[in-house]
Amino acid sequence: MKKLVSIVIPAYNEADNIFVIAESIKKVFATLSYNYEIILVDDGSADHTLEKIKEYAATAENVFFLEFSKNFGHQLAVKAGMDHAFGDCVISMDCDMQHPPELIPEMIAKWEAGYEVVYTIREEDKNLSKGKRSSSSLFYKVLNWLSDIDLEPGAADFRLLDQRVVNVFRNFHENEPFLRGLVKWLGFKQYAIKYNPAARFSGQSKYTLKKMLRLALHGVTSFSIKPLYTAVYLGFILSFASVLYVPYIIYAFVNHVEVSGWASVIMTIVFFGGLQLIILGIIGIYVGKMFMQAKNRPNYIIRSTNIKQ
Ligand code: UDP
Ligand code: MG
Repeated sequence: MKKLVSIVIPAYNEADNIFVIAESIKKVFATLSYNYEIILVDDGSADHTLEKIKEYAATAENVFFLEFSKNFGHQLAVKAGMDHAFGDCVISMDCDMQHPPELIPEMIAKWEAGYEVVYTIREEDKNLSKGKRSSSSLFYKVLNWLSDIDLEPGAADFRLLDQRVVNVFRNFHENEPFLRGLVKWLGFKQYAIKYNPAARFSGQSKYTLKKMLRLALHGVTSFSIKPLYTAVYLGFILSFASVLYVPYIIYAFVNHVEVSGWASVIMTIVFFGGLQLIILGIIGIYVGKMFMQAKNRPNYIIRSTNIKQ
């Protein structure tokens, strides 16, 4: 019996990419002695993505789709695909051809060599805008500094997971999973492959600055409570610093020094006002997470699928 490899592809407004990615995967597997299935997850697209997926699925019996009831985001789309995959291993990759399908044979080879997690590291990409590159490297620096996991810069959501790892993931019910971090946290035998990302085949990046910022904040707060501690330390440092001010107050009182400069007072108020808001916000994020998780809602909702359970 040939082993089955599942390929999970999240798609959000990727109508023009569906056919291209599915065909290039087909080409790669023509050279391999593995069976494969493709699971395309339509993450509430507003264009013709779903029609294109259905059109393609009608021509091949190993192509499946999951249609979300709305946009739940990239991470949950990948999670949903993994939850529904039957393969001996599951590969997740983007829809836009930035993750080269030609890397799949190497990933499978490493898996056969005994690694349960084969993830990929993006090499510095000259096609990407400078803003995107520096924001991505900043993202990892901040993330690693603030959280207790150690992610390599350039880690992408292009990875192979053994069935065992996927089964562990099925029991995760985080309503905003941060897969890159979770995979690292899980352990198992992991192997990293470096690759050169290609340019996006069609369409634009769906990760707006807002979405990236959200992912970054989320990455940090879902892996550690270090920001809470940082807030406490900052509080201590500032309280201590304010005590240093006491000798001056006594000096001013004794020598009847004129009180002057309201600007510095206003600045101090604004500074501490801002600081308090930031710290309240940090606490708020954690409380918000507990609130969302406590409701225990399903993490994603599937509107339709051609997968038979
Ligand atoms: N994506 C998704 N839901 C979203 C945003 C993105 O399913 O809300 C998918 C998108 O279709 C693509 C992958 O996630 O397959 C990565 O998105 P994108 O290429 O826009 O991100 P970038 O490569 O620019 O980081
Ligand atoms: Mg992309």
